[in-house]
Amino acid sequence: MLRVAVVGSGPSGCYTAQGLVERDASVRVDVIDRLPCPYGLVRYGVAPDHEKIKSLQNNLRSVLEHERVRFLGGVRVGGPGGLPAARLRELYHAVVYCVGAATDRRLGIPGEDLTGSWSATEFVSWYSAHPDAVDAGFLRDADSAVVVGVGNVAVDVTRMLARGATELSPTDLPAAALTALSASRVTEIHMVGRRGPSQARFTTKELRELGALPGTEVVVDPEELALDPACADPAALPAAQRRNVEVLRAWAEAPPKGAARRIRLRFFLRPVELLGAAGGRVAAVRFERTAPDGRGGVTGTGRYEDVPARLVLRSVGYRGTPLDGLPFDDATGTVPHREGRVLRDGEVASGEYVAGWIKRGPTGVIGTNRPCAKETVASLLADAPALVREPVPGDVLAALRAEGVEPVLWAGWLAIERAEAELGAALGRSVVKLPDWESLRAAARTAGA
Ligand SMILES: Cc1cc2nc3c(=O)[nH]c(=O)nc-3n(C[C@H](O)[C@H](O)[C@H](O)COP(=O)(O)OP(=O)(O)OC[C@H]3O[C@@H](n4cnc5c(N)ncnc54)[C@H](O)[C@@H]3O)c2cc1C
Repeated sequence: MLRVAVVGSGPSGCYTAQGLVERDASVRVDVIDRLPCPYGLVRYGVAPDHEKIKSLQNNLRSVLEHERVRFLGGVRVGGPGGLPAARLRELYHAVVYCVGAATDRRLGIPGEDLTGSWSATEFVSWYSAHPDAVDAGFLRDADSAVVVGVGNVAVDVTRMLARGATELSPTDLPAAALTALSASRVTEIHMVGRRGPSQARFTTKELRELGALPGTEVVVDPEELALDPACADPAALPAAQRRNVEVLRAWAEAPPKGAARRIRLRFFLRPVELLGAAGGRVAAVRFERTAPDGRGGVTGTGRYEDVPARLVLRSVGYRGTPLDGLPFDDATGTVPHREGRVLRDGEVASGEYVAGWIKRGPTGVIGTNRPCAKETVASLLADAPALVREPVPGDVLAALRAEGVEPVLWAGWLAIERAEAELGAALGRSVVKLPDWESLRAAARTAGA
């Protein structure tokens, strides 16, 4: 019997567990997560109003309910008070790290840490009810917002800022976030990219959704489109970019609707400084106008524009963080590997693997993690005959408990789900997420009651 620990219950962890148990009937997998709740960014990243994508949780759920898969929530690997990676390696024949890439990249400009300037990660974590999130009063006194970045996460946070109570209350948004977003007075949202419209990373489906928001209009400056040489002849662009440009062009040509809220999509603007008002809160973002450099990049022009903003959300990408006891490539923010096998000083480390964002960096959609996990599973199973000869404890749970680690088992997670449904019913809504450690732990404990 091959015993494998998968660390992380997001898409890559679940797809890894699935691949292992489907390909080999003698494998048992423990999926370990530092949170008492499974599914990683599908629960704590995918926007609450994207119910169809959220429902992918049902596919991941069937993996975690497989008879040879066990969920061990609330167990952090590495870090202060966490289970050391070396100890985990002793408990299993193999360990697959699927820990994601949960930190945001920084802009590295003056004023970035002013009150009112947050990473999209912080904002997303708050409205997703991540128990580590802080209610930072994101929307307090804010009538204007700047979202820096033009990827799908930037579109998500822009859309969440523009949604009203009617659309948000059927979602699983935690109560405090629903109250704050419903009462929002933000009427001007600038979403800004430093390069041209044809280089934006958002997908057309997500982009189009902005144009369908009730009470909101999307404004695109035709002059900014004209700055992008690729927009002059979009037919030459790859299909995805061409569709984006067509949508943006239609908005640029549309007459103003006079809607209560405006989303302004801006291009060729590079943030250089966040400007503060008295009291230390951000008041504006200073951008430098950029221009195509002829090699696919942009160059500064020395011309500046200040865009008023009481709220700034920085969405310029994610990054992995080192996990104690595992090698880490600081340049890429990933764990060095060969076909999923962890490399220590360039050599394959026996029984240690990676999959998902921590393996290949924070790119791609949920489905991209499936082939990524498949490669890792193939490597692990090829190594299995040697790995399975190592002695491991028969009862890992007993070994963990002896070391003071008390995991939240699947029944505990089901109890959390029940508590979220009950909270929703009490508030006259559907499911409402529990937003803090205390209430999650208390709900999980009722499983044993
Ligand atoms: C804001 C946001 C929105 C997104 N929206 C979409 C979308 O709409 N559609 C789409 O297709 N893709 C979307 N994505 C991309 C998608 O979420 C990722 O491709 C996917 O989640 C990556 O999977 P992963 O398993 O590598 O990491 P994650 O999903 O991040 O899972 C990592 C898991 O590891 C756990 N973990 C981390 N460290 C430890 C530790 N030390 N010990 C134990 N456990 C640990 C975490 O708690 C987490 O559960 C979005 C991404 C973001 C950031």
